[in-house]
Amino acid sequence: MEAAAEESTPVGRGSGSVSAEETEKWMEEAMQMAKEALENIEVPVGCLMVYNNEDEGKGRNEVNKTKNATRHAEMVAIDQALAWCRGRGRCPAEVFERAVLYVTVEPCVMCAAALRLMKIPLVVYGCQNERFGGCGSVLNIASADLPNTGRPFQCVPGYRAEEAVEMLKTFYKQENPNAPKSKVRKKECQKS
Ligand SMILES: [Zn+2]
Repeated sequence: MEAAAEESTPVGRGSGSVSAEETEKWMEEAMQMAKEALENIEVPVGCLMVYNNEDEGKGRNEVNKTKNATRHAEMVAIDQALAWCRGRGRCPAEVFERAVLYVTVEPCVMCAAALRLMKIPLVVYGCQNERFGGCGSVLNIASADLPNTGRPFQCVPGYRAEEAVEMLKTFYKQENPNAPKSKVRKKECQKS
C-alpha cells in the first residue's frame, strides 16, 4: 500500500496517484453534479469514477427520486462503472483496482464499505461528512483493519471543501420532503 494518504495536497504517489490538473478537472464535474442534486432536492453529493483519464461512471445522490435510501452518488457511480465494464468486455476487478473516485463529500459508512469491496485504491473528496462519514468522521472504514471486507483505500480530503459544505448547509436548511419529521430539530428556537 502506498503511503500517500498523509499528503496534504491532492497529488498522490505510485500507481494510485493523481495530478493537480486531473483533480481540478474531475472535481469541477463532481461539483456540477452536486449542484444538480441540490436543484433536484437531493443531498448535494456528486461523484465520478475515473479510469485511464476517462470517466467510466458518474453519479449524484438519487435517494428522493428513487425513494431508495441506498442510492447515494457513489452507489450510482459504481453501478454505472459496472455497466461500462460490461459494455466494453472489461473485467471489473482490473478496472476498479486502477480507478480513482472523485466525490464532493466524504463517503458515508455504507459507501466506504462498498468502495473497499470494489477495491478502489484512491478517493479524492471535498468536505467532511460529519453525520455519516466512513473515512474518519464517524468511523474509519477506509483504513480499518477488516480482512474480510475488500481492501483499505487512500483518501485525499479537503478539495473545494468550503463549497461542498456550503451546498450541504443549503440543503439541510430547506425542506426535505422525505425526511423523517420527528428527527428535525430547529436550533433557531433557542435564540429567541
Ligand atoms: Zn454513502
